[in-house]
Amino acid sequence: MGPGPSDVPDRVLGALARPTIGHLDPLFVGLMDDIKTLLQYAFQTTNSLTVPVSAPGSAGMEACFVNLLSPGDTVIVCRNGVFGGRMQENVERCGATAIMVEDEWGEPVSAAKVAAAFAAHPEATTLAFVHAETSTGVRSDTAALCALARDHGALSIVDTVTSLGGIELQVDAWGADAVYSGTQKCLSCVPGLSPVTFSPAAVARINSRTQKVQSWFLDMQLVMGYWGGESKRAYHHTAPINTLYALHESLLMLREEGLEASHARHHRNHLALVAGLEAMGLEMAVAASHRLPQLNLVRIPPGIDDAGVRQTLLTEFNLEIGAGLGALAGKTWRIGLMGHASTATNVTLCLSALGVALARQGLAVSTERALAAANAVLAS
Ligand SMILES: *Cc1c(COP(=O)(O)O)cnc(C)c1O
Repeated sequence: MGPGPSDVPDRVLGALARPTIGHLDPLFVGLMDDIKTLLQYAFQTTNSLTVPVSAPGSAGMEACFVNLLSPGDTVIVCRNGVFGGRMQENVERCGATAIMVEDEWGEPVSAAKVAAAFAAHPEATTLAFVHAETSTGVRSDTAALCALARDHGALSIVDTVTSLGGIELQVDAWGADAVYSGTQKCLSCVPGLSPVTFSPAAVARINSRTQKVQSWFLDMQLVMGYWGGESKRAYHHTAPINTLYALHESLLMLREEGLEASHARHHRNHLALVAGLEAMGLEMAVAASHRLPQLNLVRIPPGIDDAGVRQTLLTEFNLEIGAGLGALAGKTWRIGLMGHASTATNVTLCLSALGVALARQGLAVSTERALAAANAVLAS
């Protein structure tokens, strides 16, 4: 129950163990086509350039920046947590200029500040922001931010690593242009792949580049020689065959459950966890209006030893929760309810284990009341 990787279901682990076949085997090419279709469903898009990059979420992030940016570009980058800072690094390494829009950690990206940044920098070609900030448990309004980019003739780069499968994400309806995600958060697949999708406008920008993409491995025009096209596929790199079996299985599971049912499950378990934590006297650190159901930021009560509690959970209950990051380190815990780990059983386990760990440090909390409050939500 940390910030990822989440628990991987046996069905996905079983897929991982299937025999390795060639990356140009016709059966494997068929599986690649299935993966693209399943990813289009997960992202809610008809973008034909929708593929998994053969490396973790950070590589999908880098793929979006290196393919869309050219040296000298101006990019508006929103930072309200760890991952906005990484976007700035990517922009600068592309030889572009990052105009930073800062919001407090624990707050969503301010659309008003982004509008002001576009007014001050009409030359900006791109807007980059994080939909679901895993470092703080905050959701930003992706539809509104993508609309702002469009109104100013800019393209949007959106981090959906933690949102995909856990909360609503409508790539086409919201008009997001270059979107990347990861496999190990709400998809509950093993780490190591990064699904990406590029809108027709993003593809047009890539096709009209006058400079080569600085990364050979992440150059989407080269990657599409292997992943794209109706006809024959050319070797680019040896695909991580078994990891792709696992992704295929986890996407099948998502489609079987249905996106909306998955979102509803994440939402219900989140409400149950919050009800239990609050009944215990703990406080959530993010306002209810922009909380992520899959990543819950909880304030550590005064006088409680952060690492000591996490140690008790891990050694005695085999339960991992995340520490706070940056300004929130030592002040908050990050409790994940991601993908396959978003279950009523985990909510109950977490509340019971926290009750024991807090009592051990002299804080009297009522686990019974917490469980009753959580169960009331789960039963409703
Ligand atoms: C986890 C995460 C990433 C990075 O993904 P990796 O698979 O660790 O490279 C990027 N952005 C967000 C919001 C994340 O939560």
